[in-house]
Amino acid sequence: MKQIVNQNNCAPQTSRAWAEISREALVHNVRYLQSLLPGRCALMPVVKANAYGHGGSLIARELNALGIYSFCVACISEGIELRQQGITGEILILGYTHPDQFPLLTQYGLTQTVVDFAHARELSAYVCSGSQKLTDLCSLPVHIAVDTGMHRLGEPAAHIEQIRDMFSLPGLQVTGMYTHLAASDTLDEASKGFTRQQIDTFYRLAAELENRGVPRPRLHLQASYGILHYPLKDVDYARPGIALYGLLSCGADTKRYQDRLRPVLSLRARVASIHQLTPGESAGYGMAYTADRPTAIAAITIGYADGLPRSLSAGKGSVLLHGQKVPIVGRICMDQLLADITSLPQVQPGDTATLIGNDGLQTISAAELADACGTITNELLSCLGSRLERVLTP
Ligand SMILES: *Cc1c(COP(=O)(O)O)cnc(C)c1O
Repeated sequence: MKQIVNQNNCAPQTSRAWAEISREALVHNVRYLQSLLPGRCALMPVVKANAYGHGGSLIARELNALGIYSFCVACISEGIELRQQGITGEILILGYTHPDQFPLLTQYGLTQTVVDFAHARELSAYVCSGSQKLTDLCSLPVHIAVDTGMHRLGEPAAHIEQIRDMFSLPGLQVTGMYTHLAASDTLDEASKGFTRQQIDTFYRLAAELENRGVPRPRLHLQASYGILHYPLKDVDYARPGIALYGLLSCGADTKRYQDRLRPVLSLRARVASIHQLTPGESAGYGMAYTADRPTAIAAITIGYADGLPRSLSAGKGSVLLHGQKVPIVGRICMDQLLADITSLPQVQPGDTATLIGNDGLQTISAAELADACGTITNELLSCLGSRLERVLTP
């Protein structure tokens, strides 16, 4: 994927469809999130899924430049990609890694999550088998995942013996221990009670391990909503994903934080061609749109293969052109879409269209698009395609 650093804040003239990544917004969000955390707590930004569509190595490189040297990714291939792009610091794989891929952990200097006790034993057996090269590190850094109620990954917190034993397995260097909150985004009483119980369970485990003489690992448990809703004193890392990108999962939450978080990504494409329709003529696949008046239709160079949800078809979604909002008409295609530009006779082929972001006084936010599609911003952004260019703006 091409990553163009663009100094003058205008799109490269050749792009078909691109994501503009605002460095200024990213820096602002980093500082804001840091201000909510205790002094010794470091951000461990989550840059999985291509940094939620923003460009994994582009975002990680900017964060490295801000003095951030801890990252989370979902899987080993994402960790390898960051290393190959020169990203330094600790890279924690949050997900499962198959034993056949363990050699890559040492080769690329990655930190693996121990997803449960069986996984810990496999990791330990691998290091002790001597199958790794003599030049490799003799112990593998890991973070232990603890299940406190999410029931996805992690050794159940009640299994104190097994968790303690993981700390003394040969070949493993346990540098961290963490859990994941399942309901920290909603603030009804049931969710608050459940989350507080998860937090208590985690700290009770940490204290119990300390009582048993286990050296205290670095602790972390908050993702974006955890940082915002559950401030904690005794944490070493926080793992923000969506908030780092200036959004929260839904429109209402994003709006509530709009003075504090700034959206990092804008999504843009171009007008390719314009057609004049007479009443009764249809446009696009399946004749799904028919003009009921003389209508100008613009073909725009972005489609669902770029991650723009097809469910925004037929007037549900809009495009900004020349500072005005115009409707998407007909069915969104794989690589293109159609917009009704009858109200904008000044539109020309080559003009820039905005799918997410600002144009003049108009804005389309990723959060309102996600709401319109019945999903969350996390899904919408992480589905943005590899075909889009990522352009860093100041
Ligand atoms: C994805 C993920 C995060 C980041 O979540 P956000 O809600 O985007 O902040 C943090 N921790 C874990 C374990 C995750 O899987």
